[in-house]
Amino acid sequence: MEEAIAVRPTCAHVDLGALEANFRAIHRYLDERASVTRVAPPSVIAVVKANAYGHGARRVALALQDAGARVLACADIEEGVALREAGVEVPILVFGALSVSDLDGLFSHALTPTLSTPAAAKAVEAAAVRHRRRVKCQLKIDTGMHRLGFRHDNLARTIPSILSSPHLAIEAVYTHFATADDVDDAFLDVQRARFEAALVDLQALGLSAAARHAANSAALLRDERTWYEFVRPGLLLYGIAPPGLDDRLALQPVMTLRSRVVAVKGIRTGDGVGYGLRFVASSPREIGVVPAGYADGLDTRLANRSAVLVKGRRAPVVGSVCMDMLMVDVTGLGVSPGDEVVIIGTQGAEAIDVRDMASAVGTIPYELLCRVGARIERVYDQETPTAGTDR
Ligand SMILES: *Cc1c(COP(=O)(O)O)cnc(C)c1O
Repeated sequence: MEEAIAVRPTCAHVDLGALEANFRAIHRYLDERASVTRVAPPSVIAVVKANAYGHGARRVALALQDAGARVLACADIEEGVALREAGVEVPILVFGALSVSDLDGLFSHALTPTLSTPAAAKAVEAAAVRHRRRVKCQLKIDTGMHRLGFRHDNLARTIPSILSSPHLAIEAVYTHFATADDVDDAFLDVQRARFEAALVDLQALGLSAAARHAANSAALLRDERTWYEFVRPGLLLYGIAPPGLDDRLALQPVMTLRSRVVAVKGIRTGDGVGYGLRFVASSPREIGVVPAGYADGLDTRLANRSAVLVKGRRAPVVGSVCMDMLMVDVTGLGVSPGDEVVIIGTQGAEAIDVRDMASAVGTIPYELLCRVGARIERVYDQETPTAGTDR
């Protein structure tokens, strides 16, 4: 155990023990469901892009590697290089398009590129020729999201030049679902059927023995037919199940966003609070000032709409969220400067769930986690035990 020293009152506590527990819970879920349907459970590609969804990619990646993760995935080469520099030794898949990237990092840091457009394939091949290397890559198929990937229905035109390259070795083929977290939307089935057809086409074109994957967190919970040899959870690792699918496995939120009250003042009936005086007291109130604002990534739409926890109770956010501060109504709670504030997480019997906060401001939990700002120190308060890992 090691308690880092937080310099500022506002900090993000990242529970690596919870991260590891979630990683194991996902494996348990996959193992149990696979044994029911008598198929081999898929392996997990642990997604740590975007600074591990705001949790701190280096520490999260090492904790997952210690917990037994066999493959990690990130968004671009720069993220992959940072993971290698942190000491990650397992394969690292780069999801992003690589047509206009500096590709040397793929070779110097042993990253696995995704070929997701003809231009990216050409660029990676040219770089492989330059480095005189045969590079292991993964091939992305666009089955309907229309973001990255080779179109599923004209692979005979686009893929032969890749397959014939002596410098490119396709180790896996994957796709990504556009509507996996909308449990009532049947487009996932359309995409899955297109993916299967594309796999048949690829085999006919001479690609054999490539692994397959498709499922993000929502898809892996929703439909086992999306599993193939690998699944690619991100959100689940951080302890958040997509709404509507959260009864399938028990997870622990990894991040707690905490601060402290730095000032308390009484205001009178009719007094306004903050920029624009967007909150006006209808009775005498006590206002607590919390040193966290939109520069720390807090959403300005939390104004008058959300709450924080103080003394185990919900204290509504009153008035606008400022750049460096927000104000909360702590009337009757007996609050003084120094008292702990929980912005995301639990305090006593109360909890602020990042999913509820996201729906209160009209966004998704991914966005709120990723936006926890660079000014907020990540404090890792539980080291992962290194013994007794089984995967
Ligand atoms: C981000 C991402 C994932 C993980 O998504 P979650 O919804 O967080 O599980 C999987 N695959 C790709 C291609 C991604 O970009």
